[in-house]
Amino acid sequence: MKKRIGIVGSGLGGISAAIRLASSGYEVEIFESNSYPGGKAASIEFDGFRFDAGPSLFTMPFVLKDLFTEAGENLSDYLRLYRMDIICKYFYSDSTILNAYSDTNKFADEIELKTSDKKESVLNYLDYCKNIYDLTAELFLFNSPSQINTYFKARAVKTLFKINQIDPFRTMDKSNRKFFSDEKTIQLFNRYATYNGSDPYQAPATLNIIQHVEYNLGAFLPEKGIHQITQELYKLALKKNVNFHFNTEVKSLVSEYGSVQTINTSDNTYNFDAVISNSDVNTTFQKLLNDNKTFESKRYQKLEPSLSGLVFYWAINAYHPQLEVHNVIFSTDYKKEFEDIFKERIIPKDPTIYIYISSKFNQDDAPAGKENWFVMVNAPYINEQNWSDEIKSARKRIVDKITSVLGINIENNITGERILTPLDIQNKTGSYRGSIYGISSNNRNAAFLRQPNKSRSYKNLYFCGGSAHPGGGIPLVILSGKIVSDLIKKDIK
Ligand SMILES: Cc1cc2nc3c(=O)[nH]c(=O)nc-3n(C[C@H](O)[C@H](O)[C@H](O)COP(=O)(O)OP(=O)(O)OC[C@H]3O[C@@H](n4cnc5c(N)ncnc54)[C@H](O)[C@@H]3O)c2cc1C
Repeated sequence: MKKRIGIVGSGLGGISAAIRLASSGYEVEIFESNSYPGGKAASIEFDGFRFDAGPSLFTMPFVLKDLFTEAGENLSDYLRLYRMDIICKYFYSDSTILNAYSDTNKFADEIELKTSDKKESVLNYLDYCKNIYDLTAELFLFNSPSQINTYFKARAVKTLFKINQIDPFRTMDKSNRKFFSDEKTIQLFNRYATYNGSDPYQAPATLNIIQHVEYNLGAFLPEKGIHQITQELYKLALKKNVNFHFNTEVKSLVSEYGSVQTINTSDNTYNFDAVISNSDVNTTFQKLLNDNKTFESKRYQKLEPSLSGLVFYWAINAYHPQLEVHNVIFSTDYKKEFEDIFKERIIPKDPTIYIYISSKFNQDDAPAGKENWFVMVNAPYINEQNWSDEIKSARKRIVDKITSVLGINIENNITGERILTPLDIQNKTGSYRGSIYGISSNNRNAAFLRQPNKSRSYKNLYFCGGSAHPGGGIPLVILSGKIVSDLIKKDIK
């Protein structure tokens, strides 16, 4: 008889684990509260406009390719990925406009032209970022640091002997200041801490690995936008006979003699050989297991959640040639922005504004001559804020800033609007306190503190997704699905 695996949640981590297990002969069932798959990587549509609801940039495409290969399929038969020539266009408060080109030489030239930093410093910096990746990827991305055999792999051993080179003892900001002197360059590279929901003035410089991933390995979009990744993975899962139960919230997980093998929904009880939670780790312990007692649950509750976000989806009645697909309008005082978020726990008074316009890439996403603006600012995790006041005043600041920096009266061009708030992120995806990336990495030990993919307190309970190892972001949650399925294949034959 086939071994049966139950998965709570159809985020990309859950679907990735399901495809791998189903391809290896397991019978897999996924329970999803929403009526659609993909969790944060969903899509929304109104008034003839389509928006990627959450993620807007994809990196490490080989991770997706490996998933299809493991399922006996070719990624290229499902979707085509395009490397972005201009990864992002940056607008600074001193009116400088800088393009981050995917061609690293061209990017380094642009930095030399628009800042007081030298081309050579950029190229040296990207080599330093690559070195961190080469030393850490095996240990922290592709394997589980909580599994002892990980440390016997040759590359992982190398990491332990070269700990200083992975730069864990200074912050990202401090390290970036050693390479650059212009605040504009520093702000640009500090921004990468937000890719895992952290503060560059607290997070370890090891996170500079992200710049290697984006500049050296490349930033991509599928031809129909990020949501195409969700759609194609869902299609592949169905092809592998994964059974999805939509509109089905898991109400509890039953622990019997320390083993979790039963899932309760409001209508039914299901038994499995193992259960994977693709829901948030804190939500799983506190809500599904009613567990405030085990070491694992108590430890996790103490960790600081990552950033949340506030997103406005705007139907825009005009075309803006001065913008690219991805754009950032920087704040004037970046340090203050993170103090607002992590200390004051408010939406920053002067927020950095991210604008993603997928219709510039895929014209089907907006009617002719119009644009679909995804406008996002970093927000604090939920902590008793008055969100309606916060959002109202943040929206005004965002509109005013776009109007003054881009010189356009954007309010006049907004013909439709939807909003994603930290409360929505919590309610729609189960994320603890609306955090986007699980726990923050505002601490040099964060990589070791993240929830392991296999529970230490409960037998047969596993975790995948953004709040578990190796962390948030599409490629990492897909990797979490790989790590978890490898563990299950070893444990439950
Ligand atoms: C605004 C925003 C922007 C982002 N930008 C990027 C980006 O540009 N690039 C990038 O790589 N990443 C980005 N991310 C992060 C990325 O989207 C996530 O890391 C990733 O999609 C999370 O996948 P996951 O597997 O953790 O599942 P999630 O997406 O968190 O989904 C979990 C699923 O589990 C379901 N669930 C939870 N509890 C239960 C229950 N009890 N019963 C049934 N179902 C349950 C939820 O309904 C949900 O569907 C962004 C995220 C957001 C929100």
